[in-house]
Amino acid sequence: MALKVPNMKEIIRDIPDFPKPGILFKDITPLLKDAPAFRRAVDVMAEELRKKKIDFIVGIESRGFIFSPVLAYKLNAGFVPVRKKGKLPFLTHQAAYALEYGEAILEIHRDALAPNSRVAIVDDLLATGGTALAAARLVEKLGAKVEKISFLIELVFLKGRRKLSGYDVFSLIQYE
Ligand code: AMP
Repeated sequence: MALKVPNMKEIIRDIPDFPKPGILFKDITPLLKDAPAFRRAVDVMAEELRKKKIDFIVGIESRGFIFSPVLAYKLNAGFVPVRKKGKLPFLTHQAAYALEYGEAILEIHRDALAPNSRVAIVDDLLATGGTALAAARLVEKLGAKVEKISFLIELVFLKGRRKLSGYDVFSLIQYE
């Protein structure tokens, strides 16, 4: 479902050719420092998640970590990090994925989620969907259920939703 949020698109900054030539990077730092815009973004994402009973917010490194702990706090849920390879100290499960720019491995702690617990995955931006799909696989490997996958931004033209078909996907701001 798409919600109209005035001004958010004007606040997010486009950075051409970052971090590689040909990538139009969506810089959310101007939104983060704008108190009413940041609050509004978090509040609308939280409202959406409140429609489900969520036990854990799984946040994806790096910019997913900006929104996920705030949402976990608001929803009285636990926060669980999914991190890039080599960052988590305990035993992990791994999932490989392809990025819009590059390839990487994501990890989750093996004891991070109780079986059958209800999880929302949160990241800043949906591009091709590879990152979020890898995170969903990790959640499911632990026997937990992906109730929702939430993003601040969706690059609709990259069709990431297709890769995430079968999941309940929410994005606050869409670029067609
Ligand atoms: P993807 O796996 O292709 O959906 O890529 C999503 C991940 O890459 C997210 O964690 C984003 O932070 C990052 N990302 C991909 N494309 C962009 C972009 N154009 N601007 C900002 N972040 C991006």
